[in-house]
Amino acid sequence: MLRTSYGCPYKCSFCIRWQISGGHLILLPIDEIIEEISEIQESNIFIIDDNFLMNPARLEEFITKIKESGIKKRFLSYARIDFILENEDIIRKLSEIGFTGFLIGVESHRIKDLKEYGKSFTPDDAIKASEILKKYDLDFFASIIVKPDMTRTDFSDLKRFLKKARFDFVNIQPYIPFRKTPQYETMKDRIFVDEKDYVKWDFSHQVVRPDHMTPSQFYIQILLTYLDFYWTGTSRPIHKIRKYGLEVCMSTYAKSFKLLLRYINMIWDTYLHDD
Ligand code: SF4
Repeated sequence: MLRTSYGCPYKCSFCIRWQISGGHLILLPIDEIIEEISEIQESNIFIIDDNFLMNPARLEEFITKIKESGIKKRFLSYARIDFILENEDIIRKLSEIGFTGFLIGVESHRIKDLKEYGKSFTPDDAIKASEILKKYDLDFFASIIVKPDMTRTDFSDLKRFLKKARFDFVNIQPYIPFRKTPQYETMKDRIFVDEKDYVKWDFSHQVVRPDHMTPSQFYIQILLTYLDFYWTGTSRPIHKIRKYGLEVCMSTYAKSFKLLLRYINMIWDTYLHDD
């Protein structure tokens, strides 16, 4: 893992990262980053900056200096949809120096959620960004937040959206209203998990009582959406085996299986306490 910056200049309403960094952004000089990378023995480097794809001029310098140094690594980082749409040329160059994909907050298939979060893109933009990444054989690790007001129809729409967008990996997480976010005030009366039970504030547990179903039914909807995505052909398993090798894929599928068991456990646990 490598960090090249601290902070994020954006202020998405649900996110606490920019609040932790006080809205400041500190960038390490590219020469120092190249030096650090050249000392790393691992061939896969995960750049854990809140958002690595921010500054086109800095990225151009990074690309040029990686090429000059002869470094051959596989990189993965966080990115934003708007940057991908506006900077396809940089995306192509990043694929040429070893980037294998990006972790991207798609957040929602509902325009109203994206507006509320302060995102400047639409669900259609996410589909366009996915097409750009496919062109350069870059994987799209999409992160989706499901709000407690989701209905069964919303989950069906989400499944259709995920199929249409053809993301490579999907992470679906229940909405977590952290303190100091605007949503905390509107949701705090429906929080049913102790705020000091930190293990359950982990982006996989439902902490706010859903509007239209019980917590266990909500988990079932999340689980069905995962199953629909990963076991109906949209996630291109053969492509992944070719790209990452059988060993990595088997380990990923083993983790998916563990996640499946975890959801079954959470469904059972919440079912016992459903009203
Ligand atoms: S969600 Fe991402 S882009 Fe938005 S403020 Fe948080 S780190 Fe920055």
